[in-house]
Amino acid sequence: MKRERSANRFEEAKLLMPGGVSSPVRAFNGVGGVPPFIARAKGSHIWDVDGNEYIDYVGSWGPAILGHAHPKVIAALNDAIENGTSFGAPTELETRLALMICDAVSSIEMIRFVNSGTEATMSAIRLARGATNRPKIVKFEGCYHGHADSLLVKAGSGAATCGEPTSAGVTDDTAKDTIVCRYNDIGGFENTMTRHGSEVACVIVEPVAGNMGCVPPIKGFLEGLRSITSHYGALLIFDEVMTGFRISFGGAQGYYNIMPDLTCLGKIIGGGLPVGAYGGRKDVMEQVSPLGPVYQAGTLSGNPLAMTSGIKTIELLSVPGVYMKLEAISKSLTDAIHEVLLNHFVPHQINRVGAMWSIFFTDEPVIDFISAATSDGIKFRQFFHFLLDNGIYIAPSQFESAFVSLVHTERDIKKTAEVIEAWAEGQRQ
Ligand code: PMP
Repeated sequence: MKRERSANRFEEAKLLMPGGVSSPVRAFNGVGGVPPFIARAKGSHIWDVDGNEYIDYVGSWGPAILGHAHPKVIAALNDAIENGTSFGAPTELETRLALMICDAVSSIEMIRFVNSGTEATMSAIRLARGATNRPKIVKFEGCYHGHADSLLVKAGSGAATCGEPTSAGVTDDTAKDTIVCRYNDIGGFENTMTRHGSEVACVIVEPVAGNMGCVPPIKGFLEGLRSITSHYGALLIFDEVMTGFRISFGGAQGYYNIMPDLTCLGKIIGGGLPVGAYGGRKDVMEQVSPLGPVYQAGTLSGNPLAMTSGIKTIELLSVPGVYMKLEAISKSLTDAIHEVLLNHFVPHQINRVGAMWSIFFTDEPVIDFISAATSDGIKFRQFFHFLLDNGIYIAPSQFESAFVSLVHTERDIKKTAEVIEAWAEGQRQ
């Protein structure tokens, strides 16, 4: 597969933008090579500027749950754009989307819209500190919550891929208030809280981790977080930027039936436009400005196009049977991949919850960052490039999840399994 035009565009971009990209993992540092420059996307497929077509399991890193350029979302956006693109004033659209989210996600009584997942988590942390008047936060190794300073400590996703789990530019003073625990280790977390509990404002967690690859919570982990945080008066924040409206219509909290105090959202609730939100208990959200003393604002927040796209996307996801269909497509895909790899004796783990999954080339069950890091990185690189060169686009890093949309077809799944079979055959020789 030729990617000459992408290669040229990449060289030009690198002269003007760090790494040639607007977000680090897109530069392919984790796997090497030239990223395809994307020209367009439709349904479950994307096309690059050289005209190559790929089955897309990145889905814009999560938002594209309906598939790309869904006709009803596009029609709603076309109508909305005629009315103007931003007003910096209240709209009926915000209240509509707020109501839809509060109805779907059981713990959210009040919500504030922002422009990205990073803004959502950063603001939720400030709110937790303001509401509890405590300084410290707890996060888990390998979880990524955007790039706010206090959260870039032992972070997953691009931070792990680029070998910078704690970023330069984060001062020791900032990092010292972030306590890092091991994901899925409730005993370790309890010990930490025994020592620091009275100083901890909040505990933030990806209820299904997606940024060290997909790592589900083991039984008792989320339940333990809920009871221990309540005991110490710390707020529990579920970062559902990735899992919201993906794991189920009610997010991971609906799927596992655990009520956090605050929830962060992004990705799907903007249906592919820039958006984020944080919400939760009314008494806590009432601390947010202008009602309360915790300041947070945004020129483009609640943007009418993002709200329109979110409303239409959630409307389409609310149709009965949608998540059963998504589960069936996702299971059929990962079952097919598992069977192929098993038949060819390739040591691997496939973790999946709903339409979110990852492959790790290791014998060990992957339950946290340490076990995720046992995956064979060289094998992953070969696997990634073989797939890309054969028209299948997965995230260019071991420490990311793959996503299935409602419009991935049996044909997509069959082709994916065939390509992986050809790769696995090559591994034997
Ligand atoms: N939280 C989680 C769980 C995420 O996966 C991400 C992004 N992948 C973020 C926060 C940050 O969101 P954004 O990239 O929109 O700032």
